[in-house]
Amino acid sequence: MWNQQPVTSIDQVFKKPSEVAAHKTGLKILIWGAEDTRKTGFCLSCPPPVYEVDTELGAPPLFQHFVYCPKCQKHTTHILSPEGAIGPCRVCNDTNGVMKDIHWCDATFLNPNTDEPDPFVALQRLESTITLLKDVKKGTVCIDSGTDVWDWIQAWLEGTGKHKEGTLLRFEWAKAKQRWRQLLLRLMAKPLHFVMTAQTQDIYQGNEPTGEHRPRIQGASQHVFDIIIYAQKWLAITGNPPVKRYSYQAEITKCRFSKDFRPTIPDVTFDELTKQLKEKIGVEVW
Ligand SMILES: [Zn+2]
Repeated sequence: MWNQQPVTSIDQVFKKPSEVAAHKTGLKILIWGAEDTRKTGFCLSCPPPVYEVDTELGAPPLFQHFVYCPKCQKHTTHILSPEGAIGPCRVCNDTNGVMKDIHWCDATFLNPNTDEPDPFVALQRLESTITLLKDVKKGTVCIDSGTDVWDWIQAWLEGTGKHKEGTLLRFEWAKAKQRWRQLLLRLMAKPLHFVMTAQTQDIYQGNEPTGEHRPRIQGASQHVFDIIIYAQKWLAITGNPPVKRYSYQAEITKCRFSKDFRPTIPDVTFDELTKQLKEKIGVEVW
């Protein structure tokens, strides 16, 4: 039950560094980039159990890459049957693969009458889902993508906010920011890893695009994350005869622990990120 007693001792309010360290475990990561830059793959690479809240139905096609092969001693690609049965390892043909502990949530909601997405219901369901996650003590929660959630909140505001002559009144925006902020803070407060993905948005100066991009989520959100990753895909032509290949690069653009930690990591995974955090700046991640 909610404790309504007033605080009476200073120790109830102020914590020792050791107590805070125990509370604030888990990296809070924003990974953003254009389509097909492996943001969802990064989510699924995080420590299990992975709670993947998926608004784009992007995760299921990737499950085949997250099966642990006891012979290869790592996650490899396995053939999955349409029913989800695990077939042989694509590397060594071993048939004892074990699926990673992933819990997938289809966060889209189609109105059964119109068959159209309904952002009001989707948003309510997401908030209830976050409430249900309150007892999870271990692993990773992923919101994939935060851009969709921010769009839902804006649609909700458009539908419920006060308008004058068809235009949303300016001060109404505080309600959208408030709802977004509350959602984000609830996820941040958990002693878990938290990953949010976002799509990109062009930055304009007046009417002209500057060629720069930013994550398409609520404007003031970036400061809450420990790590921000800009995921990019590059086309490389190599070899003779020349072969086209895509390379996937993750540029660390913010790290709360050190402003000098700015590596670009190819084919980024959670393990590779934390390995570099430890080796380069001595940050241990639990
Ligand atoms: Zn294998």
